[in-house]
Amino acid sequence: MAAADTARAILSASAVTETGPADAARRVLSVASECVPLLKTGGLADVVGALPAALEPWGWDTRVLLPGYRQLNDLLETARRAGEPLWQADDLFGGPARVYFSQVEGLDVLLLDAPHLFDREGGPYSVDGYDQHDNHVRFAALSWAGSELAVHGCADGWRPDVVHAHDWQAGLVPSYLKYAGSNVPSVMTIHNIAFQGIFGADQLDRLRLPTWDFHPDALEYHGVVSALKAGMVHASVLTTVSPSYAQELTRPEFGFGLEGVVTARRDRGELRGILNGIDTEVWDPAADTGTIPYSALQTGPKQQNRRALLKEFGLTEPEGPLAVVITRLTHQKGVDLLLQALPEFVAGGGAVVVLGSGDAGYEEGLRHLAAQHPQSVGVRIGYDEALSHRMFAGGDVVLVPSRFEPCGLTQLYGLRYGTVPVVASTGGLRDTVTDPGAGTPLSSSATGFVFGEPPEPIDAEGLLEALFRAQQLYTKKRDWRQMRRQAMSTPVGWQDSASKYAVLFDSLLV
Ligand code: ADP
Repeated sequence: MAAADTARAILSASAVTETGPADAARRVLSVASECVPLLKTGGLADVVGALPAALEPWGWDTRVLLPGYRQLNDLLETARRAGEPLWQADDLFGGPARVYFSQVEGLDVLLLDAPHLFDREGGPYSVDGYDQHDNHVRFAALSWAGSELAVHGCADGWRPDVVHAHDWQAGLVPSYLKYAGSNVPSVMTIHNIAFQGIFGADQLDRLRLPTWDFHPDALEYHGVVSALKAGMVHASVLTTVSPSYAQELTRPEFGFGLEGVVTARRDRGELRGILNGIDTEVWDPAADTGTIPYSALQTGPKQQNRRALLKEFGLTEPEGPLAVVITRLTHQKGVDLLLQALPEFVAGGGAVVVLGSGDAGYEEGLRHLAAQHPQSVGVRIGYDEALSHRMFAGGDVVLVPSRFEPCGLTQLYGLRYGTVPVVASTGGLRDTVTDPGAGTPLSSSATGFVFGEPPEPIDAEGLLEALFRAQQLYTKKRDWRQMRRQAMSTPVGWQDSASKYAVLFDSLLV
């Protein structure tokens, strides 16, 4: 049954029908700072870009509101020429602003054209490695525009029934809705609680935030303002991107000081953990341009991708598995654990290629490792989407030793490409990868290797032990093929998760 048919069948059989038939489109405004295919620095962009198509069969029509960054100038220019703005303001925190409609690869996009805030050098958040000094203003402006569109609707008559705010950059949308007296419901999704959008209380007036709501139950976070906390307090419902991360966020080790807010919302039944999916058309080993196609039934060509990847990095054929790592190089991602564990892994016959950028110390550490093991360690510092596809297609295992991981996408790409994930037991990693355990024969549910299961710590020793088990299984070709097949058969698309968002949105309709 096609996704759309499944969605309609479930809708017609569930309480969701009380809110209206599936084909009477309901509308959601998604507010975010990045979105595939326009601009991406991490998993947030994948999610924001993939969810609209996944929600469509459930009767939800999405528009995505994004900042009109300089990188999107061509698109903005075309949109300006194509039609009148859908919203405008003479003064949005220091300059004029317009919202223009654009369609990109089937996605309905609203671009916030505010040159004084977004027509800048650098990436979406930083320039030359430093955060833009006025990020709180830039993303408060995004949130203000999102709230205005929800309250007054777009000039073409489109008006959202629900607003979906993503991460701190959209955290003030639910607050602005509240101060406008709006009854449009909002969903605040936390993709990573470590980033909170902190700024001084002296900015409240400038950002049109009322000083009367500056207290610990609303905008205040230990004497300053947190845009994320504001959204977490004021949204109708709070979601995060995996069930395990939802539980973890109630604990001080993971909550970054906001565990009390999460716990309070959980206790009121207003917290959901909904796993991310991946776009299975963009990430499809059977149709990935730039690699040799293969499938769960015919994995032979994966060997050719493996050889090509070894050649690309100038590595010799290893006896053991070829591991790939594609990540931001940060403490969260456990890069220090990799630096500790990889020498032993390659000494045991493994090889590894790493693609990433981030903390200078980790970049240097990885370069050093590659220089010490030129036959078996390859490192590419930078961001390269096409190379990441070649790595998933050519790798035997993908390593994700994160200390915390709200959902994680790379292990999902690994499952899809039969590149067996080796992951830490945290957040979405533990929700999506199943360890074989100790027994024989190989469990029919095993899809990867998991280490650091509580009370064990997530450390280099645990990672090494998991890598050792992967190396052992790799020598048993039949078992390895079985695990790879099981990994590739794991559902990783959006169908299930989109239904959960749709049911949630439906439950909020006023
Ligand atoms: P996070 O959002 O915390 O960085 P996720 O696993 O949720 O982690 O998503 C990361 C996304 O960014 C994945 O799509 C991954 O493939 C991609 N990615 C990370 N680093 C790179 C890189 N250097 N080159 C290409 N893609 C990358």
